[in-house]
Amino acid sequence: MAYDEHDTHPTEKLGRRSFLQIGGASLLAATLASAARSFHAPRRDGDELKIQRLSWAGLKLVAGQTTVFIDPWVSPETLNGAWKGPIVPVEVETQARAVLITHLHNDHFDPKAISAVFEKSPGVVVCHAKVADTVASRGFRVRGLDLYEPLTFGDFTAAPVPAVDGFGEDQVSWVVTAGGRRVIHGGDTLWHGQWWKTGRQYGPFDAAFLPINGVVIKEGAQEPASDLPVVMTAEQAVAAGIVLGAKLLIPIHYGVRDPASYVEDPKAESSLLEIARRRKLAVELVRPGDWVKWQPSA
Ligand SMILES: [Zn+2]
Repeated sequence: MAYDEHDTHPTEKLGRRSFLQIGGASLLAATLASAARSFHAPRRDGDELKIQRLSWAGLKLVAGQTTVFIDPWVSPETLNGAWKGPIVPVEVETQARAVLITHLHNDHFDPKAISAVFEKSPGVVVCHAKVADTVASRGFRVRGLDLYEPLTFGDFTAAPVPAVDGFGEDQVSWVVTAGGRRVIHGGDTLWHGQWWKTGRQYGPFDAAFLPINGVVIKEGAQEPASDLPVVMTAEQAVAAGIVLGAKLLIPIHYGVRDPASYVEDPKAESSLLEIARRRKLAVELVRPGDWVKWQPSA
């Protein structure tokens, strides 16, 4: 966290001679003003958290001199080429960089995207400890964390919290704090009963990035097929946003058309807006490539 020079205590800046020349009342006022500035530390330009939505479930978070990616993805072949949005390129402007992944499915753990992040400067992939060996086997430097174990990295602090994968794989959600904001990224989790604990421990969140596509897998899924959604629906995402204490829900992980095998709720986005309006939860729609404005969409 960076403080500017105005946060220096007045007596340190002015020296003893000046200190003695200041009257009691004005000294108190100066001290209080300084204390107030310390509690509400003004940030230098660039210290606030900026978040760009990448393709699919991917995010790029920038604060200070550090960039953190969550589930960066640039490989449309992993969704049978059925992703209808743009492939947002992975670009890093800071030297310090890291990648967080929610789980190992190839639409979330994309070695090609991660290699692009580390192309010009090395960094670490941060994941749940249970999948660290698999990530390392792809040639990446890895830091595995236990649930709730925080890792501080530049301006960022990140901790994995419980999630439930639709096919029983190991999956976590990420709570990330930086630049005076806190967000959560839900990968492609199902609805589950840990939201309350996460909300009470870490909420309120400035934004919850949650999957909404309620996809039913028709082909290539586990047999016998369940014929049930393996990712949260829009209605469940709104409920999770409310339970988590999210000031904004930003939907991710939707926008694929593949009627033969990967059947999304085609109305996921419009349902989300309607249900969220009814339940009074603010939603910001952020298109892939755009930056979060921290304001509800009109
Ligand atoms: Zn997914």
